[in-house]
Amino acid sequence: MGRVTSLDDLPLRDDLRGLTPYGAPQAPLPVALNVNENTHPVPEAVVSDILDDVALALSDVNRYPDREFTGLREAFAGYLGHELAPEQIWAGNGSNEVLQHILQAFAGPGRTVFGFGPTYSMYPLLTRGTGATWVAGTREDDYTITAEDAAAQVAAADPDVVLLCTPNNPTGTPLGLDVVEAVYEAARGIVVVDEAYQEFAPKDAASALTLLAGRPRLAISRTMSKAFAFAGARVGYLAADPAFIDALRLVRLPYHLSALTQAAATAALRSADVMLAMVDEIVEQRDRISATLEALGYTPHPSWSNFVLFGGVEKPQELWQALYDRGVLIRDVGIPNHLRVSAGTEAETTAFLDALASIGSAS
Ligand SMILES: *Cc1c(COP(=O)(O)O)cnc(C)c1O
Repeated sequence: MGRVTSLDDLPLRDDLRGLTPYGAPQAPLPVALNVNENTHPVPEAVVSDILDDVALALSDVNRYPDREFTGLREAFAGYLGHELAPEQIWAGNGSNEVLQHILQAFAGPGRTVFGFGPTYSMYPLLTRGTGATWVAGTREDDYTITAEDAAAQVAAADPDVVLLCTPNNPTGTPLGLDVVEAVYEAARGIVVVDEAYQEFAPKDAASALTLLAGRPRLAISRTMSKAFAFAGARVGYLAADPAFIDALRLVRLPYHLSALTQAAATAALRSADVMLAMVDEIVEQRDRISATLEALGYTPHPSWSNFVLFGGVEKPQELWQALYDRGVLIRDVGIPNHLRVSAGTEAETTAFLDALASIGSAS
């Protein structure tokens, strides 16, 4: 049967009318550097380990999985360190689901969610999905934020939830812990620090996990999608006060983490050192991208993540297309005169840089 109805004909929620879904292109190009994945495959030995555990889980798959994903929470607590207890850990199908749980519990209709733009494009979408209102704060021209300014903006907006992304997507900018502390003091509501890219930050950079003790409204979210090369498995997690975790239990679907997901993630975490072995190599490629972009006359922004946002692009759409035509997919994040590229393997990075150089220098 053909498609007889359009979205406009359906009794859609008024607050969803006119919105567009998340839609980074999924084009089958040889070099895909557009969604900040880890482009290194999971090492063979770990794949085989994971398969063994998934096979074991399959033999029990007639039963619902452990609703509390006990083993996985223990594994995350062990991986994160900082003397975290499993009662302080939550997980979901990607940190997007974890963020959605937070917004379902603490935002929703009549409430507001605040973040410093430009920031992760999913924040406004997740906010609207729960019926809440997204409020965008501002950054300096170089995308940094001072503690003073951040606290003043949060105090003025008085949001129910603040989403702080560090290092920030799509800019790569880190946020000082002094900013997190100041925002927490200024906020009445929940403060979430999204550390999706923390593993790519300098090794001595402190995580907001060090601020958790005594701050029951604070949560630190992480993901296995980036450093762990596990984007396709969909596993994100967070650390917070045990009472915060209890709030998330009110909104999650029963058995939201499948037995196969739990088994795969727990097995992968057992080999965390092998899974993360490529992080240094990716950081090296990121810094090579920045240096080469600068030599070509573009203006890369300092990045603590696995991608680089660069300015000095006269016509982003045209450059994006020219790279696409050369088999290289990067991202137009909608910032005027800017594009974003993820650091790939050495070969992929070379392919991007060679394609860019063949197109010419920045004007
Ligand atoms: C990629 C990314 C995530 C991770 O999303 P998943 O749902 O875990 O794949 C979360 N936050 C930011 C800022 C990201 O860029």
